[in-house]
Amino acid sequence: MVKVTVWNENRHEQKNPVVKSIYPNGIHTTIASFLEEAGYDTLTATLEQPEHGLTYEVLENTDVLIWWGHLAHNEVEDEIVQKVYEKVLQGMGLIVLHSGHFSKIFKKLMGTSCDLKWREAAETERLWVLDPTHPIVEGIGEYIEIDQEEMYGEHFDIPTPDELVLVSWFKGGEVFRSGCTFKRGNGKIFYFRPGHETYPTYHQKEVQKIITNAVSWANRSKRNYPSYGHHEPIESLKD
Ligand code: ZN
Repeated sequence: MVKVTVWNENRHEQKNPVVKSIYPNGIHTTIASFLEEAGYDTLTATLEQPEHGLTYEVLENTDVLIWWGHLAHNEVEDEIVQKVYEKVLQGMGLIVLHSGHFSKIFKKLMGTSCDLKWREAAETERLWVLDPTHPIVEGIGEYIEIDQEEMYGEHFDIPTPDELVLVSWFKGGEVFRSGCTFKRGNGKIFYFRPGHETYPTYHQKEVQKIITNAVSWANRSKRNYPSYGHHEPIESLKD
């Protein structure tokens, strides 16, 4: 069974009654429960826990890590970011959601500013499927529509994604690469844009389906981890 850890800074839920009413037990709990229903073995972790809930044991037992953060990116300890980074290179999957574009871990893995345009105006977002063959959009129609979302607009300062799965259109006129895949070392990364905390985005079935599919796509490979460093010749080097 795929082991998923859902990480959330869990701050808006404490401060903002609107967010609290949409996600009474936190965004992480909502995400973990639909993943649990989909048959994954789930765990949650939050910023205020010791080591932000990402202890050696937790990371050892995580095939795919999901990341939601916004207000407190700078409070995430560099030491933990380094551990997560190494785990990704070793093959752990990572799904970065919404404002996680500015998380330390995403910026470290991308190597760019990850900056973008934004506007909070409760506008319609239409996410178009660009690659109908991609497993992340299995069961999704030509597009999905979210009634009210925050706008993120191009230019999104990321390296060219390995695959572009979804692109968003916003009512105000902007577009955004909202479903992007990357490979770093042995790990697979999916950035998925929707999920502003004051809208019920993670309660929407199609959004849940995409995240559920993405976990399965990002799951660590079952093949052996490659060996690095000094290597004995496979063939004899003597004439
Ligand atoms: Zn937001």
